[in-house]
Amino acid sequence: MLPKMRTPESRQMITLEVRRNTSLTPAFSTITLGGPELEHLKPMGFDQMVRLFFPREGQDGLRMPKLSSEAWMAELLLLPKSRRPWVRNFTIRRARPELGEVDIEFALHGDTPASAWARRARPGDPAGIFDMGMSYLPPAHAEWQLLAGDESAVPAILAILEDAPASLVAEVFLEVPGTADIRKDITAPEGVRVRWLARDGADTLPGGLALEAVRTSSLRPGRFYTWVAGEAGLATGLRRHLVRDRGVPKPDIAFFGYWRHGRSSPG
Ligand SMILES: Cc1cc2nc3c(=O)[nH]c(=O)nc-3n(C[C@H](O)[C@H](O)[C@H](O)COP(=O)(O)OP(=O)(O)OC[C@H]3O[C@@H](n4cnc5c(N)ncnc54)[C@H](O)[C@@H]3O)c2cc1C
Repeated sequence: MLPKMRTPESRQMITLEVRRNTSLTPAFSTITLGGPELEHLKPMGFDQMVRLFFPREGQDGLRMPKLSSEAWMAELLLLPKSRRPWVRNFTIRRARPELGEVDIEFALHGDTPASAWARRARPGDPAGIFDMGMSYLPPAHAEWQLLAGDESAVPAILAILEDAPASLVAEVFLEVPGTADIRKDITAPEGVRVRWLARDGADTLPGGLALEAVRTSSLRPGRFYTWVAGEAGLATGLRRHLVRDRGVPKPDIAFFGYWRHGRSSPG
């Protein structure tokens, strides 16, 4: 489920270290990574995504792939597990090139490789990134935008809202695990309406509340661009609803299955 992407013109593997680990809400933590190699990252803003490399528990260092072409994954898989790092997809929530720092926001969700690493990460721990570019590419004809995501896409959508022009008009649906995960301090243009949806223990898969909320909303008139990401059922379900029930042209929808219930990311 890869939407149209803007990929970086040049990129290389970047090795950094953890500078800070900051708890935001019960289900979200920010890991700040920094180091001199960050000068090789060209910040794009919006939903700029990276492959994040981090050591497996018990490994005493990080072994980054040497290749910066698409062959890096093959190189990684040839390593025995004892030396191979974990690799997962994450969003650059905020870049501060002047300080040589980037923030990555983790939606913590159980005893999985990325969540466990984010809980134990301490200043000085190594981590690496590889720039993958961005997928938020609204067309000029869009009169307004529909942005929707579960907790895994909250960092991307909050970054999009922070980087958006003041003229942006958008309806935003953000689903989070609990009421305590709702952010009070978001930065967004005046024409943006954000609806937070908290599962608070409801027996539904992540993304289910956001999907239902859009389905039952009366949306604004006019042609609009949709960017939706999160659990695969939210991404595909929302696209299907918009195309079938609301007659939205497929090219006006960027949909991105960030993760799939019951399946681990490869790598
Ligand atoms: C382009 C892109 C950008 C992303 N940006 C972010 C980001 O900024 N912050 C962020 O937190 N996530 C982000 N994600 C999602 C993240 O990559 C996945 O959630 C990933 O699976 C996490 O790895 P893991 O080691 O925790 O779990 P995995 O080992 O991949 O999976 C283990 C189990 O956990 C389940 N699982 C995975 N993710 C979640 C979740 N979020 N909630 C509940 N269960 C889950 C899986 O279904 C599986 O059963 C992004 C994904 C993509 C593709």
